[in-house]
Amino acid sequence: MQSLSHNLVFLSLIFIFGLIIGSFLNVCIYRLPKIIKNQWLQDCNDLLKNKTKKLAKFNLAYPPSTCPACHKKLSIWQNIPIIGFLWQQGKCHYCQKPISYIYPAIELLTASLFVVVFLKFNNLPPIELLFIFALVSFLIVISAIDFKTQYIFDILSLSMLWVGLLYNTIFTGFATPTDAIIGAVAGYLSLYIVYWLFKIIRNKEGLGYGDFKLFAACGAWLGYQHLPSILLIASISGIIMAILILMIKKITKVKKSTENKENKERLQDSKIPFAPYLSFATLIILFWLF
Ligand SMILES: [Zn+2]
Repeated sequence: MQSLSHNLVFLSLIFIFGLIIGSFLNVCIYRLPKIIKNQWLQDCNDLLKNKTKKLAKFNLAYPPSTCPACHKKLSIWQNIPIIGFLWQQGKCHYCQKPISYIYPAIELLTASLFVVVFLKFNNLPPIELLFIFALVSFLIVISAIDFKTQYIFDILSLSMLWVGLLYNTIFTGFATPTDAIIGAVAGYLSLYIVYWLFKIIRNKEGLGYGDFKLFAACGAWLGYQHLPSILLIASISGIIMAILILMIKKITKVKKSTENKENKERLQDSKIPFAPYLSFATLIILFWLF
């Protein structure tokens, strides 16, 4: 009985730790695309020797969190994961504009996955658990940014790859160092070949270079042996989701017959982000086979 309550206390602590990390991941998801695009703009200006004034300072820590609608600075209690959202009843305290449900969803998802990692790998030393928490965090941020912007930034995918190689080198890990390195190379090359086949046969770009790097990172973490299963699960779940989205679009199209042609073309042209499916498949394999 004592060990049960002891475990519950520990699980609650892991859950709270996950909420706090989830809150930081939200900052990354919201700010990283802006920081990187600012950097691109700055680089272009430097290259073209444009004498435009320097862009305003903007990083993960500065300026402090504000409401995206009215730009009022948020207080500490408004920034508390989940509680801040519930306290404000999902609306900004100042301008009453609704707060995106994505924020609490990311916090809950991170906390829940951290608990699953802890239950699944509680025989591992704490330092190894931190590495696996890092893997989960990378997958969440990469998926959310790909979903939002259709970009997979190198700073995330390549960092995930290096951390994976490091993990499999200094600990027993999920794969031998050799299998992890082969996994990174095979992950990149396999999607690179699929990309070119698709381009030659259908003259369309089915994947982006970001997908190759993310798949390479998955190989670096779990070893080349698991890449076929990850790709299979990712593709099947992607196809199921695409069919579901198409069905929903058809239903709403029947309802809204006034939808204009331009909008239709835009929807047909829109690419499906692949990172959420690759991440989902990686986690399935991680929790199922390890
Ligand atoms: Zn506001």
